Order: sequence, then structure tokens, then C-alpha cells
Amino acid sequence: MDSKISTIDQNDTSSELPPQMGADEVLRVENLRKWYPLRRGFVETLFSKNEMNVKAVDLVSFSLKRGEIFALAGESGSGKTTLGKVLLRLVDPTSGSIFFHGKDITKLTQRELKPLRREMQIIFQDPFESLNPRMIIKEIVAEPLRVQKVAKSEAEVEERVKQVLTEVEIVPPEEFLYRFPHELSGGQRQRVAVARAFILNPSFVVADEPVSMLDVSIRAEVVNLMIDMVKKHSASIIFISHDLALAKHIADRVAVMYLGKVMELSTSEKVVDGPLHPYTQALIAAVPVPDPESKRTKDVISGEIPSPVDPPSGCRFRTRCPYAHERCSTEEPPLIEAEKDHFVACHLYT
Ligand code: SF4
Repeated sequence: MDSKISTIDQNDTSSELPPQMGADEVLRVENLRKWYPLRRGFVETLFSKNEMNVKAVDLVSFSLKRGEIFALAGESGSGKTTLGKVLLRLVDPTSGSIFFHGKDITKLTQRELKPLRREMQIIFQDPFESLNPRMIIKEIVAEPLRVQKVAKSEAEVEERVKQVLTEVEIVPPEEFLYRFPHELSGGQRQRVAVARAFILNPSFVVADEPVSMLDVSIRAEVVNLMIDMVKKHSASIIFISHDLALAKHIADRVAVMYLGKVMELSTSEKVVDGPLHPYTQALIAAVPVPDPESKRTKDVISGEIPSPVDPPSGCRFRTRCPYAHERCSTEEPPLIEAEKDHFVACHLYT
């Protein structure tokens, strides 16, 4: 396929990045890296001078549009959760830039970040761990208001908590204000986490596998609630999920990650219905289908994800790819626009 239109070189760290962002962009990420130095024992250090790193996120670039639902997909170990935390500066990046409303937030101190924090929120995977068991619901939801000192009185705090609890259908809110998390069901707890994330009317939210710990029967309603909240608050959301079927259902665009790199990026329809990258194709083939006659099996993607400390040379997917050829072990494929608005990092398209 020779329809290359433009290229995002995932290995190019040399160029100065454009500070201007498109009017419709909330966030732009350029060449973002998060490497964790590997702790080694005394003997290992004696025998090897080379510093070893876990390359959790390695030169990732993309942008998020205003009001967009953007899914980050991939197996566990692909780097999507680390990327989500780095985007919010909950974890500091090793290198690269994160432009948020035009400002490179990688250069800001935590103190300088504080006013921007009201614009960026996170919803964690586990509502059993993310809500402080010793705090009542009113205080959990009000916490961002208090940290940011945006409410003028206690009456206003309570009013805003009741309002956002009503939005997430924890009703009547008066009945829940003085309860503790353990008195709520899993679905109710995640609704409380959503309320806390939206009480400051953020423009950017990261939701990290927000329904994977919930009972299957209530996942759809919690997902739909989040989509409603995103739309109502005109926010943009990065929805981290290993579930491509869910990503297609909710997201405008999807980026598929593998070993810290973006392998494919496009609209959710293009990625799920017409995947170009062999890894995405394998992930989709592995999605269980209800039809017993179907030839799809879970074995289409073989082997374990390699170690992010020492990823394969060239294409990181080559050790599991049925189409791997010589070039794949020597040259890392850049992320190219193989079809209109459809980016892929694979030598089959270059
Ligand atoms: Fe497979 Fe090679 Fe494409 Fe990597 S670059 S996905 S190994 S064909």
C-alpha cells in the first residue's frame, strides 16, 4: 500500500514542537516517554554497567479534540494506564511534551499545576479502593471543591454535592450524603467516583478501565452515565479499556497500544471494523463471539507480551506477528497515515 499522506515519526525526538494547538484541540501529546529505571541487585550491577529501564510509554504522540471520547486500548502491559497517569502529571514523564489548553504542562511545577488540576480529573478502575473508606460520601465528592477552594460557603459545598449526585443518579442525594462507601453497591460507588470527577466541571477526564471491576449486568449503565456526563459538561475523555468492542460502542477514536507504542489510531469504526495492524486484527479476532459456528478463536494471538525492559528490536510486535519479515527485526516502523485519518505502525504499509 503506497498511500502515505503524512507521517508521525515515533522515533524523532529532535524537532522543536509547535506550541500552537488547533482550536478544536484540548490536549496534544508529542514524543511522550515514561521510562522507569530498573532496580537491580548488587551483583547484577557489578556485571552490567548499562542502566536498564522499563519502557512503559515510549515516544507516543496524539491529540485530543474538544468533546472527544478517545479510547486507549491494548493488552495489560501495553502502557495505557501509565500513559493516562502521565497525561495528568500524576506521574512525571521522562521526556516529551503535553500541551494542555496550549500550555506545556511537563514544564510546570506541582504548585503551578494546581489551578489547572480543576480542569483535569481521573476515574480509577476500582471503586472499592479509590474511595476513602473512612470518609462520608459528601466529603469524598466535595474534596476537589475544598482542595481548589472554589466554594464560598458550606451551604454552597452541600448544594453542589447534591447537584452532582443527582446528575449521576445517586438519588435522593440527601439519603447518601452521610453514608460511607461500604454502605453502597459497586455501581453506586463508581457513580460517586464519577460525581467527584465532574464536580469541578473539568474539560479533560481520564477514565482507567472504569467498569472492569463492576458486575457485567451494570457495566452498560455506568458507561452510558459517563458518556452523558462527558456530553453534559462538554468535557473530553480518555477512556482506557482492553475491550475493543466497548471502545467501538463509546469512542470517537481509538489508539491501540503495544509495549508502550501506538500501533494504530483512527476512528473507532475504522479500527474495529477495518483494522490494518496485525496486532489490532489479532485483538479483534480474540474478542469472544456468541456464534458457536464462528471460526474465531482466542488463540490467534500467540505468546506472551515481551518484557518492556528489553523489547524486540525493530517492530515490537514481531515476535508474535504472523507477517513478520526481515525488515521487521531491523527497522522500527513509524506511525504513518496509511489511509485517510487512519494511522498504522507496520511495514506492510510502508
Ligand atoms: Fe508484523 Fe512486521 Fe508489521 Fe510489525 S512491522 S506488525 S512484525 S508485519
